[in-house]
Amino acid sequence: MEELVSLCARRGFIFQGSEIYGGINGFWDYGPLGVELKNNVKAHWWQRVVRERDDVEGLDSAIIAHPRTWEASGHVEHFSDPMVDCRTCKRRFRADQVDVPCPEAPAQRQVSECDLTQARHFNLMLKTFVGASEDVASTAYLRAETCQSIFTDFKRVREAARQKIPFGIAQIGKAFRNEINPRNFTFRSREFEQAELEYFVHPGEREKWFEHWRAERLRFHRELGFAEERLRVRPHAPNELAHYAKAALDIEYAFPFGWQEIEGVHDRGDWDLSRHAEFAGRDLGVTDETTKQHFTPMVIETSVGIDRLCLALLCDAYAVEAIPGGEERVVLRLHAAVAPIKVALLPLSKKLAEPARAIERGLRARWNVFYDDSGNIGRRYRRQDEVGTPYCVTYDFDSQTDAKVTVRERDSMRQERVGIDALLDYLRGRMEAAD
Ligand code: ATP
Repeated sequence: MEELVSLCARRGFIFQGSEIYGGINGFWDYGPLGVELKNNVKAHWWQRVVRERDDVEGLDSAIIAHPRTWEASGHVEHFSDPMVDCRTCKRRFRADQVDVPCPEAPAQRQVSECDLTQARHFNLMLKTFVGASEDVASTAYLRAETCQSIFTDFKRVREAARQKIPFGIAQIGKAFRNEINPRNFTFRSREFEQAELEYFVHPGEREKWFEHWRAERLRFHRELGFAEERLRVRPHAPNELAHYAKAALDIEYAFPFGWQEIEGVHDRGDWDLSRHAEFAGRDLGVTDETTKQHFTPMVIETSVGIDRLCLALLCDAYAVEAIPGGEERVVLRLHAAVAPIKVALLPLSKKLAEPARAIERGLRARWNVFYDDSGNIGRRYRRQDEVGTPYCVTYDFDSQTDAKVTVRERDSMRQERVGIDALLDYLRGRMEAAD
């Protein structure tokens, strides 16, 4: 994990926010390669969940919602963790996470043996004020999850998009939680992104759609190339379920720090729509056109953390391996669909810049391409392996006469001579085959 964190900072994937001020705990910045990775992951999710289906509509709602939203959802009252303070070192811990070494004296005692206060509930929502005054009436919250606006916008979106049950509304966006102990790199942050789908179904079809989305979401993760043995589904035990939930499961990844949730699939019943209907005094039900039955739809939710998914992808892709010549290389075996740079254009000499730049321009119209003409070619390949670039294209002195370039594939390191005319189609074919 330490090696990966250091690679992420050094190569500009992810690093601590506000670094020059010493950082701010739980907030992370995505650099040039990180933002490409993250955008690719989000685009892939949007493609699979929204674009490829005619029964799912997209939404991009405001981060700040009417504060009543969070009363109706139960967050104001219940979205809290029990916490304890250490009277000696003044640190704060989650009451259910005290079986760890005390940060002040790790060799001597566990946090549970410190001088701790009684557990108190600590609300995880971040507060702000809207308007000129800073009082209770102007208090608002940064959303703790993206889905609540999907419920409050349900009627508007359904009518505008002329959708009938079953159908879904999907959204990707920032969420904020004042986590007591942000940790494990981006895994538990205070600002993060979620990609959520709320799928509205007839009460008689809950099980069927829960099973559908379980399979779909698992397929999505497998498609991204996760090692089979590092991905698993963990159904929630009955005593873990929220009081309104009928079924729930976590899709977990074996991170270097243990099995942890990356996505949740939940049957939320009619809890959310009923609560908002009650708090807003609006009818959020639908009428079945054939039976004329009026009912509140049930909700199947899929909720994945984009940052956690990126972290899992990076962990899964990271490898250090021996290569011929007694050397070692670090390689990120990222799926081509999410790799930040798809192709690197590497002319063998600076003298070949002109024709190499022409090829680069042709490819850049389609993909994120990187151009590098300095240094030893082996070292340039290594630098691309380390950031997961699937293909390197080398333009050499022969290219001027045979109109061919060498394409090197990242994982096998196999090299192939390809005609410049056919290069775009060749690369497109390879990338699509991986899709
Ligand atoms: P956890 O138990 O790990 O706190 P949760 O069960 O509260 O997570 P949900 O409320 O179901 O999580 O949120 C859905 C998804 O959002 C999670 O699967 C995770 O990927 C992501 N997520 C939740 N909290 C965080 C966080 N603090 N930092 C990064 N991602 C998060």
